[in-house]
Formats: sequence, C-alpha cells, structure tokens
Amino acid sequence: MTATATRVLVLNSGSSSVKYQLLDMKPDSAGGSAAGTRLAVGLVERIGEETSRLAHTPLATGGDTRETEGPIADHEAALKAVAAELSADGLGLDSPQLAAIGHRVVHGGLKFTAPTVIDDAVLKEIERLVPVAPLHNPANITGIRTAQALRPDLPQVAVFDTAFHTTMPEYAARYAIDVATADAHRIRRYGFHGTSHAYVSRKTAELLGKDPSEVNVIVLHLGNGASASAVAGGRCVDTSMGLTPLEGLVMGTRSGDIDPAVTFHLKRVAGMSEDDVDVLLNKKSGLVGLCGDNDMREIRRRIDEGDERARLAFDIYIHRLKKYIGAYTAVLGRVDAVAFTAGVGENAAPVRAAAVAGLEEMGLAVDADLNAVRSGEPRLISPEYARVAVAVVPTDEELEIAQQTYALVNA
Ligand code: ADP
Repeated sequence: MTATATRVLVLNSGSSSVKYQLLDMKPDSAGGSAAGTRLAVGLVERIGEETSRLAHTPLATGGDTRETEGPIADHEAALKAVAAELSADGLGLDSPQLAAIGHRVVHGGLKFTAPTVIDDAVLKEIERLVPVAPLHNPANITGIRTAQALRPDLPQVAVFDTAFHTTMPEYAARYAIDVATADAHRIRRYGFHGTSHAYVSRKTAELLGKDPSEVNVIVLHLGNGASASAVAGGRCVDTSMGLTPLEGLVMGTRSGDIDPAVTFHLKRVAGMSEDDVDVLLNKKSGLVGLCGDNDMREIRRRIDEGDERARLAFDIYIHRLKKYIGAYTAVLGRVDAVAFTAGVGENAAPVRAAAVAGLEEMGLAVDADLNAVRSGEPRLISPEYARVAVAVVPTDEELEIAQQTYALVNA
C-alpha cells in the first residue's frame, strides 16, 4: 500500500445482490480520525436474472444516480459492472489510491473475534462455517473470490457480523441443551448485526460525552431484521439473535422467539416439511405473518385507520421489545442509555414511544417533542429528569467496516 492509498471499497455481497460503497478514509484536516467521506455508493440487484439492475451514485462528482437494467449473470459480472461504473468517475479499482476492500461477512463463528485480512486459510474457515450460515456465507465467499480475482495484490479484509458478540460470557452464549450435541454441531448463540451494535454503542457513549468503557447501553437495532444487545463498558454481554438471525425480537418477516416445540408440531400435526417450516418462520412470520405488511410506515397508517390486525401486530412487536429492554436491564444491572437504530428505530417515533411507555420505574421516558424531531444525527429523546438516556443513533455499518478495514491495513 502506498502512502496515498486512503480509499476503501466496502462490499456487502448477498445471494442475488451486491451493495457497495467507496469511502475515502483520509484523516480530516484537523488531524482527527479518518473521515470516511463517501465517494460513490451503489447496488446491484437481481443478479442471475434477466432484469438485473445496477444503481450507481457518484457522490464525489455530485452526479446523478445512473441506473442500468439488463441481465447480469453472476457476482463476477456484477463486480465488473461496478468496477466499470467506478472507472467512469475516475475512481477505478485499479487506482493506486485504493488501500483495501472490506467485505461484510455474516458468520465468523468463534474464531473470528476481529476484522481479519483474508488469506487462503481464512477463506477456508469462512467456508467451514457455511453449515451454520447457509444463506449468507456462500454469497460472502463469492464476493471475496470475485474481488480477489479483480485485484489479487490488494488486501481484502473480512469484517464479521458475529465478531462484536464473541465477548459474551459462556452462560449467555450457551443454550441449555446437551453439551456434547451442542459442541459437535457448533450450536450456540452467535448474534448478528454486530457491526451495527459496535458502532451504535460507541456513538451512544460519544453522545453522552463519555468513553465507551464507562457506559452500559441497550442497543435496539430495528430494521427489517431486528436484534437487541446488552453492551457493558463497550463489550457485548448478551444479544437476542442466536445460532441464526431467527431468534429474538419480532421482525419484518421472522418470528423471533418461539417455543421450539411449535416446529415439531408443524411437522407432526400440520404435515409441513423442514423447508416449509423454515420458510414459514423466516419469511412468512413476524409483522408480515401477523398483519400482511412488514413496513412499519404502512402498519402505522393502517392503525390510524382503525385496522385491528395492524394494531395487534404492532402491540406484539412492542411487547417483545419491552421484554428485551427489561431482560437486558437486569443483565446489565445499571443502564445508562437505550439506543434505537436502523430503519424502524431511526424513523418510527411511535415505536420508540411505545417501547418505553410505562417503564418510568426503570428510569425510562421519552420526551414527545424530542421524539418527534426528524434528523439524521445522533440525538437524545429522553427528558432531562430521566435516569436513563434514550437515544436515536443512526447506524452506519459501511463506515464501520471501512474504518475497521483501514485501521487493520495500516496497523
Ligand atoms: P434492513 O437493512 O434490515 O433491510 P432497514 O434498517 O433499512 O432494514 O429498515 C427497513 C425498515 O424500516 C422498513 O421495512 C420499514 O419498516 C422501516 N422504516 C423505514 N423508514 C421508515 C419510516 N419513515 N417510518 C417508519 N418505519 C420506517
């Protein structure tokens, strides 16, 4: 890497999509930490179909979003198309200013507790984890291989969704099942969205004017997927997602917590197959299963029109959230802040208000005026008297991946 290499390309490769951002990590003029200026962002979706679509926004030049439609056969073709878009803006992957490529990797098991420069052994280990992340790790691996082929000389870094959660104590991470069976099949709580929980808990400490080591935070990442975490002094001590991202909160299409016997019942009594149950719990449950919609905006609109099913779905969603706030308050002992983040957490004021309603005894309250403010900035929404700060902290997983990647290749 040359001294001028300050750019990081962040790649988030899904099974049929690639999201990307090119960031410049040059320290700001005040000599502070890396700025993370976005130079370009984009998305390739429906890879492998006739109607693939690439949307590229060249932020560096201030140009409009360029959209192209047409078949993109595979991830290699997708990345080549992205590279061509970047080149058209003078930001090509062949630029000496590119320092590294940072890859979001969903499952890092227990082995990967920090961002890791990818070599053959690391790639093998990510492959070994495919059985516990069959939906995600294969796509991440494809993204890595494709990027390696395009720039074999460049450091490629894996940033794992699970890494932040590897500090959980054994009693929080283990399920109460036969130890030999659990160990043989690597069954335990891993947790996901770790990059977001790490970023948001740190930003929350910053908002309180404290060092992360001094504060205990409950982070509520409420997107289409949703998870909660208990973070004590900057370290994760518990999180709601488990072996897979199915456990925990009610989500857009996933059930979250459920009696595992429901799955036997569905097979034995309802005659469903393993795959049917998988699809039911991951794709047809949660808010969409309860009321037919998974977008919180639509659900709120229906509630305003008096729709009872939407109301019940909302109430079930909030009830589960409250249970986790209560549980993690007990786990942490002392809570300094509850931070809301991701699509729902950042935008849905009624969700934030309802989640802490009635929890005054626990030191939690929301100021209606502050809660109603719309802003992209981290902010407090609790009244001054409240013992626990309630915060809205927009997450930025790409920036976190870029920062971790850049720090590692410069270490
Ligand atoms: P993911 O990354 O898990 O796909 P996001 O964090 O982008 O999800 O969150 C998407 C969800 O955020 C949407 O499904 C919708 O429910 C919710 N959302 C987005 N904007 C708003 C809004 N203005 N008000 C309420 N909910 C919103």
